[in-house]
Amino acid sequence: MIIVMKKTATEEQIDSVTEKIKAAGHDTNISRGTNRIVIGAIGDESKLTPEMFDPMPGVEFSMHIVKQYKIVSRESHTTNSIIDIRGIPIGGKQIQVIAGPCSVETQAQMDLAAQQVVASGCRLMRGGAFKPRTSPYTFQGTGVDGLKIFRTAADKYHLPIVTELMDVRMLDTFLEQDVDLIQIGTRNMQNFDLLKEVGRINKPVILKRGLSATIAEWLMAAEYIAAGGNHQIIFCERGIRTFETAYRNVLDITCIPVLKRETHLPVIIDPSHAGGKSWMVPALARAAIAAGADGLLIEMHPNPCEAWCDSDQALSPQELNQLMESLNDIARAIGRSI
Ligand code: PEP
Ligand code: MN
Repeated sequence: MIIVMKKTATEEQIDSVTEKIKAAGHDTNISRGTNRIVIGAIGDESKLTPEMFDPMPGVEFSMHIVKQYKIVSRESHTTNSIIDIRGIPIGGKQIQVIAGPCSVETQAQMDLAAQQVVASGCRLMRGGAFKPRTSPYTFQGTGVDGLKIFRTAADKYHLPIVTELMDVRMLDTFLEQDVDLIQIGTRNMQNFDLLKEVGRINKPVILKRGLSATIAEWLMAAEYIAAGGNHQIIFCERGIRTFETAYRNVLDITCIPVLKRETHLPVIIDPSHAGGKSWMVPALARAAIAAGADGLLIEMHPNPCEAWCDSDQALSPQELNQLMESLNDIARAIGRSI
């Protein structure tokens, strides 16, 4: 940690800072430049915070010099982590496409969707039973019944399931239904109690990026999960909120190379919630794979016009098939496979 003193800082103020550092069990190193004095605290940074020094007289600012995320950082683990979902690897050479409807509706809808997911070549299925809707007056999901419907449909086709956990009180039900991959949605990226709870279980987690979350905040949110012992985390970019209104969110493709540099964990992209329109999905999906994403999370509905939720952005089964074919070529061009 370094503490930068104001130009006007007195020797007494410098001494107070060094004493505080020493009292915390650290050594100090004082660097006297022509304009500024910088005090370095040497030792385990986790015991010191900027809040300890910023309010002190004579201090300009203080900052950590090592990253606050540790377990999820590339520094701690230089090779790519591969997360195994019932024998299906995410984060390796093979790209995984998780497809399925926004929400679980009926058994017939999920049975048909599961069949179409498999037919398109996808190996995992998505579907929300608990839906985080902007309005409390719109369809909120089919709940526990939906979870059971999803499990039944997916089991017929041996598909691992991905579904969103919104409420920690539902965690036991998720474990009973043997949800294979738990999704933490955008709106809960910084629900730290929820993150801590999924950190204590042995189940892979997809952590979606918050609507306006910085990469550092997102990495710290993942660290909350990892700190509890669960290191099976997959980052999912789904578009961020900007000034632009021509599409639902702005897909931040830049986050792919940045996350790949900062973390060893897999990164997937949700082009559906980014664009918000089905016709945008193929272009965004292809861009994501070209940029190095480890997978995609795509909304597909047997009959998009009839979908109970996010009907505008769902691909039809035929559109998913076409997309999968075009992704093949892109994957091959960058030395990967679908
Ligand atoms: C979803 O995947 O169904 C969803 C609600 O996504 P997000 O959290 O990205 O809005
Ligand atoms: Mn949706």
